[in-house]
Amino acid sequence: MCPECGGLGRKLGANTELFLDESKSLNEGAIRYPGYGPGNWEWNILNESGLLDMDRKIADYPKEERDLLLYGKARTVSVKFGGKAINITFEGIIEKFTNKYIKKDLNGYSAGTQKTVEPYIVMGPCNLCNGSRLSPQALGVKIGNYNIAELQAMEVDELVEVIRNLSAPEAEPILAALESRLTHLCDIGDRLHKTITNRRGRKLPPPFAKCPVTDTAMQKVFVDRKLPLIETQIVESGEIT
Ligand SMILES: [Zn+2]
Repeated sequence: MCPECGGLGRKLGANTELFLDESKSLNEGAIRYPGYGPGNWEWNILNESGLLDMDRKIADYPKEERDLLLYGKARTVSVKFGGKAINITFEGIIEKFTNKYIKKDLNGYSAGTQKTVEPYIVMGPCNLCNGSRLSPQALGVKIGNYNIAELQAMEVDELVEVIRNLSAPEAEPILAALESRLTHLCDIGDRLHKTITNRRGRKLPPPFAKCPVTDTAMQKVFVDRKLPLIETQIVESGEIT
């Protein structure tokens, strides 16, 4: 299970697109989030830190500088305010927002703060497992050249080819059974596709005289979902009883 999202594949994160107007520089007000406008407190910290190019458009930032602006970890910098040098904490804007609002219970803040913050929080794919829900250790295991998430994302016919080309004598019975089942699924898919295609072409296909559907769970799906043509033809074929 992915430790970052707890196995959900998705997690709350900051809406970066809403945070930034990438066509502007920091001096032009590139950060839309309140408090970062030119002259505001947070903007002053960025400006006085000396770490960022305040005149370059965000879209033109090199990756390293962009990562610092967005995700930079907290660090102490010496800045001058009112002629005095003081130490303050510089932190990337998304990093700071995440630590302050996403990793904490938003209900602990005032209604006004919640209303301001909520639009900037979105549910998106987990950045560690990319939605696979698996831990880095599980994703590190390869079957052939693929990890389990990549195999899971494949179309069935593509997966059949991968299974067919695997060389693992010790797992031969399992691979043979798997290939057989996947091939069977492909056959069913082909028949359904032909039926729907022909139906749209107004010429109905002959009944599934030799439909190989014998799996009762699959029959139940057809019947429960009330696919009239398919259901009727399969039942009439007498092959699924
Ligand atoms: Zn995850």
